Amino acid sequence: MEDCIFCKIVKEEIPCHKVYEDDDVLAFLDISPVNPGHTLVIPKRHYVDLLELPETEAQTLIARIKKIAPAVISGVEAKAFNLNLNNGKIAGQEVGHFHWHIVPRFESDGRELWRGQPYGEGEAEAILEKIKNLIK
Ligand code: AMP
Repeated sequence: MEDCIFCKIVKEEIPCHKVYEDDDVLAFLDISPVNPGHTLVIPKRHYVDLLELPETEAQTLIARIKKIAPAVISGVEAKAFNLNLNNGKIAGQEVGHFHWHIVPRFESDGRELWRGQPYGEGEAEAILEKIKNLIK
């Protein structure tokens, strides 16, 4: 896609710090890392989000993440990683080319995930009723 920054990275029209590449997948360091080694993993073909991504591409990406993530965390001597996907603008997706974030985690790095809170009485059942019949 012409105006897509990640497509431009794939076409080498703009530079990146390349972590991994094959025919289908590219991984590169995030320009503004949450933690050192923060890596983006993208399909080379342009899909806006997870819902547009064909199942075979999704499988390929997960298989590559299983290969890349251990190297990323070992390389920066991290203890673990978060695998993040911001799907849609309201969810924080800034770049409209599907991507996973591999974010290495270190002990006491101060990065906190959101805190949840329990459902109220009957709330989970009511929501479940609305969702489960819509799964196709
Ligand atoms: P998201 O908010 O999930 O769409 O994440 C987009 C990510 O892309 C952000 O973490 C940005 O720092 C990163 N990013 C944007 N432009 C570049 C670039 N040219 N090279 C590497 N990472 C980038």
